[in-house]
Amino acid sequence: MVSGGCHCGAVKFEVSEDIQGIIHCHCETCRKINGTVYGSTGFVPEGAFKIISGENALTPYESSPGKNRWFCSRCGAHVFARSQASPDMVGLRIGTIDGDPGIRSKTHIWVSQKRDWYDLNDDLPRFEEFPG
Ligand SMILES: [Zn+2]
Ligand SMILES: [Zn+2]
Repeated sequence: MVSGGCHCGAVKFEVSEDIQGIIHCHCETCRKINGTVYGSTGFVPEGAFKIISGENALTPYESSPGKNRWFCSRCGAHVFARSQASPDMVGLRIGTIDGDPGIRSKTHIWVSQKRDWYDLNDDLPRFEEFPG
């Protein structure tokens, strides 16, 4: 069982299945929403993701049509996202997980929108956009 939560501790969740590989997304939306050079996500089946506290602290923001990102309304942490394009999956912001989830980085995506001032120095596969 993997657990995690937001920074202030209001929102806590548990994941009962393996998280699928960590994707680093360089798109402008992920950069702006996370305030970081890229957004890092692991995917879990909807049925394996459970909010155990702080449901009422979560606020959604529709960052693009059909894609809602959920934030802690108290500390502002971006905790997870749900997309109508893949309704059975939850995209966990991987930095909210406590401890080692037992997975490692898998790919960089939307590298076409990567900032020129940030150099990629690893050997992970890179995709210009979202791999089909
Ligand atoms: Zn919080
Ligand atoms: Zn992105």
